[in-house]
Amino acid sequence: MRYSALSLALNALTGQRRWRPAWRDAAPRERYDVVIVGGGGHALATAYYLAKNHGITDVAILERSWIGSGNAGRNTTIIRSNYLLPGNEPFYEWSMKLWEGLEQDLNYNAMISQRGVLNLYHSDAQRDAFARRGNAMRLHGADAELLDCEQVRAYAPCLAFEDARFPIHGGLLQRRGGTARHDAVVWGYARAADRRGVDIVQNCEVTGIRVEGGRAVGVETTRGGIRAGKVALAVAGSSSRVAAMAGLRLPVESHVLQAFVSEGIKPLVDHVITFGAGHFYISQSDKGGLVFGGDIDGYNSYAQRGNLPVVEDVCESAMAVMPIVGRVRVLRSWGGLMDMSMDGSPIIDRTPVDGLYLNAGWCYGGFKATPASGWCFAHLIASENPHPHATAYRLDRFATGHLIDERGMGAQPNMH
Ligand SMILES: Cc1cc2nc3c(=O)[nH]c(=O)nc-3n(C[C@H](O)[C@H](O)[C@H](O)COP(=O)(O)OP(=O)(O)OC[C@H]3O[C@@H](n4cnc5c(N)ncnc54)[C@H](O)[C@@H]3O)c2cc1C
Repeated sequence: MRYSALSLALNALTGQRRWRPAWRDAAPRERYDVVIVGGGGHALATAYYLAKNHGITDVAILERSWIGSGNAGRNTTIIRSNYLLPGNEPFYEWSMKLWEGLEQDLNYNAMISQRGVLNLYHSDAQRDAFARRGNAMRLHGADAELLDCEQVRAYAPCLAFEDARFPIHGGLLQRRGGTARHDAVVWGYARAADRRGVDIVQNCEVTGIRVEGGRAVGVETTRGGIRAGKVALAVAGSSSRVAAMAGLRLPVESHVLQAFVSEGIKPLVDHVITFGAGHFYISQSDKGGLVFGGDIDGYNSYAQRGNLPVVEDVCESAMAVMPIVGRVRVLRSWGGLMDMSMDGSPIIDRTPVDGLYLNAGWCYGGFKATPASGWCFAHLIASENPHPHATAYRLDRFATGHLIDERGMGAQPNMH
């Protein structure tokens, strides 16, 4: 069923009884050409682009819970392409371009809102670093504007400009950045992949990877064994555990990242704003809740909940840059499992096991990467060659020293 103004009107007039489920709840078959482990945004986007771009439709998504139950449904929905390094910027700008056409492509309202992402700077050194980043972005075709303090005041008057503990000197603005409704991205990709024949299998945990003669030939699951021509992993915070099933040890640590949402209030924060003197960022959802977060909890964990020290740290930063939030009540908070790579950049590569492919290491920022990650991972699986925008995301770069050390993106034990 195509979604359109006409279908909305017809359903409204007939009691909303004609809607059909957006995707089938498939039962696993004995064999697929490609099995993708994980049912987050990256896995679903990979399945969709395998079918759409490469004509590979004999594909299964195997999700241990429900699709979108991991970070895809837990993130703070920010999309942007404000990266510095040549290994990263073309990839994230490609993702931005895919976001810009995504709703038409998927025929799904993902509530993409290019409301602008503003990174504040509070010192001359930080201004110089942001000027360099902005220039790098523009060289790769992205948009970037360096604002001074008065321009920031006009753009985001909700911030503290008088007697601030960390005075705002200006900001780096990407107007095309913004937010997208995370659940809708999952549902949109799921529906579009399903329409092209992909089986979406929920409540199906992968418990083992079958390797014969050095080649991955299938998986063991809680719903029986499944043979596969190729096995692809896109399990984010569970990457090290699932890769270990094939005997691999990844340069990835799992950490908890928390997020918070306040009670709904009238429009206050029109853009996405990040504090430059601490780890804090904020936006306002369409329902009116302030959505904000900060740093990882800083210890390794597979629990999807965090602890109080980071709550205190995030709230302190909020009060420093935007004291007005002190009047708002926090409604809820939650945690997600982050796959932190040691240089803060992701991995989209083949593994030493033939027929086993890896998509991992997304750290703080994998949601914005969802379209490009799926596009490039599908390209790798179909062609055995890295996509030109993802050639730097090699698994062996930690051994060869070809790191993509995008400062501020990785776990603590990284290589600054
Ligand atoms: C609080 C928070 C805020 C964030 N904010 C942003 C942001 O604003 N912008 C941004 O760009 N990024 C953000 N991120 C990061 C982003 O959400 C992730 O990098 C990205 O979603 C990871 O990819 P994914 O969606 O495929 O992962 P997930 O949705 O986590 O998918 C992995 C799936 O694999 C499944 N799985 C695991 N093990 C198995 C198994 N053995 N068998 C079967 N299935 C399995 C899990 O159940 C899960 O559904 C944030 C993350 C968090 C936690």
